Amino acid sequence: MKILGIETSCDETAAAVVEDGQKILSNVVVSQIDIFKDYGGVIPEVAARSHLEVIMPVIKKALKDANCGWDDIDAIAVTHAPGLLGSLLIGTLTARTLAILHDKPLYAVHHLKSHVYANWLSDQTPAFPLLALVISGGHTQILYMRAHNDFKIIGTTRDDAIGECFDKVAKILGLPYPGGPSIAEAAKAGNENKYQLPHPRVENLDFSFSGLKTAVLRAVQKELNLPISHPSHDLKNHLTEQQINDFAASFQRAAVEILIEKLQKALEMYPDVQSVVVAGGVSANQALRDALPEAYFPEPKFSGDNGAMVAAAAYYEIQSGVKPTDPYKLNIYPRISIES
Ligand code: AMP
Ligand code: MG
Repeated sequence: MKILGIETSCDETAAAVVEDGQKILSNVVVSQIDIFKDYGGVIPEVAARSHLEVIMPVIKKALKDANCGWDDIDAIAVTHAPGLLGSLLIGTLTARTLAILHDKPLYAVHHLKSHVYANWLSDQTPAFPLLALVISGGHTQILYMRAHNDFKIIGTTRDDAIGECFDKVAKILGLPYPGGPSIAEAAKAGNENKYQLPHPRVENLDFSFSGLKTAVLRAVQKELNLPISHPSHDLKNHLTEQQINDFAASFQRAAVEILIEKLQKALEMYPDVQSVVVAGGVSANQALRDALPEAYFPEPKFSGDNGAMVAAAAYYEIQSGVKPTDPYKLNIYPRISIES
């Protein structure tokens, strides 16, 4: 079964053709990072317009790379939630139109499910029950999965998402957007033991990352002997390259340790778990990969947003008995839980 997966939930326009949820026949991603790096973040209206400009070329290239005509495609899958409203609209309206035009079944997929299913785009697939650590720009969750397409949230963030925290700390340090990769790069030349950053005290399996961001801010101000009233956007002008690298490394170490502490706690609470999978943009982080040698990670190119994971998620939904959606009625949900 060949599924065309379409993804436009944030600032990547992506399409891919995947056979039987695993064999990648094509994978095309156009990122808007170059547009947004000067702004230090995504501007939703600009993102939507940019999706509109490239979505049809991206889909055409995905079909061409896969050597597929429309007759070869068995179904279309598209991200319908959660994400930026305008971005989701462009992807879903395109998918709906194509499904009607080419008479294909249409599947609407939750974005976090897709991230988790990036771990099935390989020969070695995780065993159930499993824990999925979903870490992205907008989400930080631990999910318990008893079987395919069966998700229970057992931990979530109470404030910022971890990717957001990487991005905000990078801004304080004057490192380019997106913050995750630039912090990881700077950290390579830094001393991760230089600054001691506190771990938040949150009961159960929930996370909190806004305190860690503030702790970095205060540590930078202290290091520079500047008052806490000193504007955060100006601190980067006073830091040496070595200090930036040391803060990046110390922050990354704290972030990785916080994730691992919660994961360990979750494993103690769910002793029947057979495997751990990590997913979402932050799963590209090499320090985290090194710290969790037993866990499943997607290939780095499938950590970020892509269409292949959407097609894989839809394949397993179909296997679980999920029926196609009506292309005339498919709706978008900018904020909706994976459990709904
Ligand atoms: P997503 O929301 O899944 O598209 O993921 C985007 C988030 O992943 C952004 O906040 C990035 O800063 C973060 N990210 C990407 N690469 C890395 C990395 N190597 N280390 C840490 N965070 C990363
Ligand atoms: Mg994402």
